[in-house]
Amino acid sequence: MSSPTTSAAARTSGPHAESTHRTPLLDGQTPPAAAPVMFRAGCSDCRGRFELAAGALRLVLGASSRTTFYSFTCPDCGAAVRKPAGERIVELLTGGGVRTLRLHRP
Ligand SMILES: [Zn+2]
Repeated sequence: MSSPTTSAAARTSGPHAESTHRTPLLDGQTPPAAAPVMFRAGCSDCRGRFELAAGALRLVLGASSRTTFYSFTCPDCGAAVRKPAGERIVELLTGGGVRTLRLHRP
C-alpha cells in the first residue's frame, strides 16, 4: 500500500505578476469624442430592450420628418426594427457616429 502523495501545485506569486496599469485618456493624442456611444433601443417585435453601438444603427434622413427614421436589427429576435427619428434623435445619432443615409438630395 502506498500512501497518497499530494503534490501541491507550485504557486509562484513572484515577479511574474501582470502589470495592469491603466492609461488615462489624457495624453492629448486621442480625440475627445472617441468613447464608444451606446444607444438604448427597444424592439417592437419581441419587446426586448437593449443597448446598441453606433455601428449597429442606421439613420435615414428623408425629405420630411415622416421619412426620417432609424433602423436596426434586433439582437434578440432578428427583426428589422424601424423607428421614427425626431430632430433630437437625429442629432444624437449623427453625433454618436451612426451611419447616415440621405434620401433627399440637396
Ligand atoms: Zn426583437
